[in-house]
Amino acid sequence: AAKAGGRNRVEAFTPELRIAAEQKATLAGELLRAIERGELVLHYQPVLQLPSRRCTGVEALVRWQHPERGLLPPCDFLPTAEQHDLMTPLARWVLREATRQAAAWRDAGLALVAGVNINATHFSTGTLVDDVMDALDAAGLDPSQLIVEVTETSVADDPERAVAQCAQLRRRGVEVAIDDFGSGFSSLSQLVTLPTGILKIDRSLVAFPDGRREQTAAAIAAVVALGKACGIRSLAEGVETAEQLELAADLGCSFAQGFHIARPMPADELAAWAARGVPLGGTTVLA
Ligand code: C2E
Ligand code: MG
Ligand code: MG
Ligand code: MG
Repeated sequence: AAKAGGRNRVEAFTPELRIAAEQKATLAGELLRAIERGELVLHYQPVLQLPSRRCTGVEALVRWQHPERGLLPPCDFLPTAEQHDLMTPLARWVLREATRQAAAWRDAGLALVAGVNINATHFSTGTLVDDVMDALDAAGLDPSQLIVEVTETSVADDPERAVAQCAQLRRRGVEVAIDDFGSGFSSLSQLVTLPTGILKIDRSLVAFPDGRREQTAAAIAAVVALGKACGIRSLAEGVETAEQLELAADLGCSFAQGFHIARPMPADELAAWAARGVPLGGTTVLA
């Protein structure tokens, strides 16, 4: 009976697994076509400079306008892209589109630095620097208007290669930011070894969790101070309340980003948002 039950379980499982695998393969095929057909879109989340609270930049965040399933967040398709070697083609599209948009905004009198997220596989393909420079050339955008965001995990695979490529980007005038700093077991040595100019402090710290409020504030203050000593400016990610924004400013963060300031939004909405002048923290945000 046990054996029969086991076999039944296997039989009950196999079609499901097969369907899941097929769905993944289908999704990968669809994603490749989506990149080619222009179904990917970028939303932009404003970044404020502190303490002025002027909007000086945006982070470009990819979404997939799926014909049947609607607007999909990155967590719904980036894992598939990674499994099927689509991260580099996707990143190339993101780089092209974000730089094109930044140049269009610049021409409209809205100078915003655009942040773009890069994945570990892009370091291993070895084309990152060329892809970035090609996108800047095509858009006619100055390298100083682009920030490449890398995470600690994306660097971990092959730190030497990642460091070399980040150094090349910076030599060419493109800033490099460490994303999600403090989300895992962040190593302080990264701050001194990775060629970077901006440290994006993860929202798990910026949330100042109950019961660990003072410790978190002390940790952020220490990271900000260490960054300053190394010529690195800090950005508070995931700022969701007015109080968190105040704290980020008080602790010496140079930038802030989060739902309290604005959610990621389509490019046309962002231009309207900036033009409206959104009052925040007693001041008015004007680009
Ligand atoms: P990330 O680079 O750390 O981007 C910030 C994420 O936090 C975004 O989620 C943003 O919508 C969200 N966020 C911003 N402010 C707040 C806040 O106040 N509270 C909360 N709870 N969340 C906030 P999103 O757009 O879903 O992107 C998730 C992740 O997907 C990104 O994290 C990044 O790692 C990845 N990603 C997004 N776009 C791209 C891309 O074009 N290429 C690559 N390689 N990865 C991307
Ligand atoms: Mg990011
Ligand atoms: Mg982040
Ligand atoms: Mg994140």
